[in-house]
Amino acid sequence: MPLKRGMKITSWVVLAFFCFGASAYAADELLVLKAARMFDGKSNSLIQNGVVVIKDDKIVDAGSNLQIPGGARVIDLGDATLCPGFMDAHTHLTEDFSGNYNERRLRELDLNVSEQAIQATEFARVTIEAGFTTVRDLGSRFVASHEFVDVALRNSINKRVVVGPRMLVATKGIGATGGHFDPTNGFRDFLFGREPDYKDGIADGPDEIRKAVRFEVKNGADVIKAAVSGGVLSLTDEVDTPQLTPDEIAALVDESHRLRKKVAVHCHGDQVAREAIEAGVDSIEHGSFMKPDTLAMMKKKGTFLTPTLMASEWIMGKIGNYPAALQAKAKAATAARSDMFRNAVKMGVKISFGTDAAVYPHGQNAKEFKLMVDLGMSPIDALKSATANDAELLGIAQKVGTLEKGKLADVIAVPGDPTADITATERVSFVMKEGRIIRQGPSGADKTEKRASLDVSGFRRLIHFAVLFG
Ligand SMILES: [Zn+2]
Repeated sequence: MPLKRGMKITSWVVLAFFCFGASAYAADELLVLKAARMFDGKSNSLIQNGVVVIKDDKIVDAGSNLQIPGGARVIDLGDATLCPGFMDAHTHLTEDFSGNYNERRLRELDLNVSEQAIQATEFARVTIEAGFTTVRDLGSRFVASHEFVDVALRNSINKRVVVGPRMLVATKGIGATGGHFDPTNGFRDFLFGREPDYKDGIADGPDEIRKAVRFEVKNGADVIKAAVSGGVLSLTDEVDTPQLTPDEIAALVDESHRLRKKVAVHCHGDQVAREAIEAGVDSIEHGSFMKPDTLAMMKKKGTFLTPTLMASEWIMGKIGNYPAALQAKAKAATAARSDMFRNAVKMGVKISFGTDAAVYPHGQNAKEFKLMVDLGMSPIDALKSATANDAELLGIAQKVGTLEKGKLADVIAVPGDPTADITATERVSFVMKEGRIIRQGPSGADKTEKRASLDVSGFRRLIHFAVLFG
């Protein structure tokens, strides 16, 4: 019986659709965004007179010179370019490594993890206000704590308790004893009472690696991150040495892929990059010392490179903030990464946009665009890296990454033409996530100005709700 009844309802719906199908949406439910130009996330040039039509949380139409449905609410952004919300495939929204290195290490031990979590809500807010509506957050750990702050932040954003970008989180990240991710590196032995283990993301041997992957997925990881080589901001390792064996990397990739999670590996060194690419990782993060042959392997395999140029840029600009050993590692990695990136662009390696936010202050993510363009990438390809490419790498291309019918309405605007001046991406003037306006108005470089513009946007939001519900 229930089946028949269901069929009856369906046929009424079908009949109703044919009767009223011509006006699928009531015009007063539609919101229209207009601007002089539009970047749709996939085309090789900008579209003139861009129009995006939105209903609830989705795009129902997008294109050039579309007819505006009568009665729709229209926001005309003028001499600006509409873009899909930017994505950053490498952030650490729960952390801040940007100040003096040793002061930060001490502060992290002083502060209650709950207080650090509250700070993270501010990092999430400034990130989305800079136009980044999605991030892949690659690691959140607090020494001697088992809290999953990134999972909590992601969930709170999804529940709209906190304003921030859509997050895909990696929880702790996985690495070897004494490797880049070992949180006790550089502290006196057993200062924290025990050696870190899989519950801290520290694992040795294929079986323990599998256990760490399973433990992270159980606790909410969307993506698996691992350190296969040394890193810059760790005290007891060399920057380019292999830290996982081929057997360990194979176990990491196999276990993650079996659980339908992608694998991002922190990797500066060339040798272990080859081993990781061979094992089938989805992205190489940093990749500073990779040689052309290794890049050719990536191209063949379709492995993404997430270059994080901002990280080395920031560290080199504040080199006095770091202990001497880290200064030497930073210099070596930075000297190598520019040629590596130029080669990757020339060879057509898939490049995702990722910045290592936390190494520099949150909210400056868009400065990566100019660094990419200065090293030989075309502005349109740089824009694609932060939209369609990241959506592909994150496995969410069916939902976001382009301005197309059926996609979630993550839409931002930048002033002028970003293909003529890529730094326009640093002055995002409008941010919408899933059909909700996060901010509207000029961004301010300094904090005071930013606060003022936020208040205005809050006020506008109030008016918006008053209009909707008044
Ligand atoms: Zn990182």
